[in-house]
Amino acid sequence: MKTIGLIGGMSWESTAHYYRVLNQETAARRGGLHSAPLIVHSVDFAPIAQMQSAGEWDRAGEQLAAVARGLEAAGAELIGLATNTMHIVARQITDAISVPFIHIADPTSDALIADGFDTVGLLGTRFTMEMGFYRDGLTERGLTSLIPEVDRTNLNGIIFEELCRGIVREESRKVYVTAIERLAARGAQAVILGCTEIAMLIDDSNSPLPVYDTTELHAKALVSAALA
Ligand code: GLU
Repeated sequence: MKTIGLIGGMSWESTAHYYRVLNQETAARRGGLHSAPLIVHSVDFAPIAQMQSAGEWDRAGEQLAAVARGLEAAGAELIGLATNTMHIVARQITDAISVPFIHIADPTSDALIADGFDTVGLLGTRFTMEMGFYRDGLTERGLTSLIPEVDRTNLNGIIFEELCRGIVREESRKVYVTAIERLAARGAQAVILGCTEIAMLIDDSNSPLPVYDTTELHAKALVSAALA
């Protein structure tokens, strides 16, 4: 099995979830005491979040590209970036490395298409919902994505003010469930949890639509790539 390099820390809450799924999936696929050969570089999220707010994407991209180079130099044979939002700078990362980069949207699109869906709701940070870098990739795969028409600021705030700090509130769960209900009423057949922390609030047991959790799908795709 190849060694996986993970660029984490955005936030560390979801990187912890990645760590668990990467190891559980490896054990499920290989059996016994097998676990994932894995190098995690967990960055300090505060300066990255500041660069996001300031629109300093190139600067953030340079930093994450340097992290990716470091992972490769340390022996990573493929690399994943454990946040949807920072895939805005995926190109800067892939340009910096010579090992494969497993994009978070690819396994998500694959799963939706395999399950026969063509119209999906997308929840995530404002950047992911509004900036196009994520939805364009879905469109290229033939998927129509719908984002909430209202409450995007609140949905975004719950990610940064609560989930990234380990705070899980019932009121916030309701905000997300309501957003999914509205997406369903507009024709969404499934919902992408397009932020690696949303699974802390939403899963198939409380979602009005089938859930596609990018953290879980991405972590499993990293294991598949490492075993290929
Ligand atoms: N983890 C989140 C995501 O998947 C949000 C944090 C960030 O802005 O990187 O988009």
